[in-house]
Amino acid sequence: MERETMMQKENAAGHENHEQRKKEDFAREQGIMDKIKTEGFKNYAETLPNLAESFDLSKHQLDDFEHCICCMDGRLDKGIHSAGSTILLSPADRKTYMQVAQPDAISSHDGCGAGKIYCRAHGLPEENSDQIARELAEEIAKEYGLPHRHISAAEMKKNHVERVCYWDASGRINNDSDSGLPNGFVVSRGFMNKENCLAEAGVALDIIFGDHGFGRELFSADNPFIIAAVAGDENQLAEMQAEISELKHPYGDIVKIDGFIFKLPE
Ligand SMILES: [Zn+2]
Repeated sequence: MERETMMQKENAAGHENHEQRKKEDFAREQGIMDKIKTEGFKNYAETLPNLAESFDLSKHQLDDFEHCICCMDGRLDKGIHSAGSTILLSPADRKTYMQVAQPDAISSHDGCGAGKIYCRAHGLPEENSDQIARELAEEIAKEYGLPHRHISAAEMKKNHVERVCYWDASGRINNDSDSGLPNGFVVSRGFMNKENCLAEAGVALDIIFGDHGFGRELFSADNPFIIAAVAGDENQLAEMQAEISELKHPYGDIVKIDGFIFKLPE
């Protein structure tokens, strides 16, 4: 009995630390999010002298690969992106992705949420999802004649700290602490059709509002999670924001749509 009480106390302490850590992580980029709210994402991005760093794939290589397919997970800040490195795409959509993106490698990673989704969709054991996602990535690598690289948890950011989800037309965006952009998931509209991108944006919301993310409580209508169109010009910005508005989700007004125009490195 006494032992049980001690364990309960320890669990409660662990939970408190966990909540405290989330609050600290959330607060870290609040200054950026306040500016985005006040100025609008487009105006905010225009003030960033190092914006192009986020679009410089040579600065975000995995080993020697500049165009390695990595998950949409914001804890990975390398290469180009697709949920589970394309494991959720149909064979036809994957083929298109490969043709447009021209990747030079394909990765898998520890703790992949897309792997869990794949297992659920195919009646496979979720506890083996990392292994299954890794094997799928290896098979895809073989099919397309690409090297495969597994990314261990030690090589990733520890926690989900995404404040936004980038809906990216450039196919080049990465989280970059020098750029001034907030941490975000990457949905690569440059390489995938609207339907696949809407599905991935939905996954991003489920992750960030779920147990592995910040949860819903820290967000509000006044301080929302943002899905940000990352466009080449004004027309594309408007088009992509209209696409994003088609996303159906259960999170109400704690999700908002915004966007900006990307800047490529010289
Ligand atoms: Zn993943």
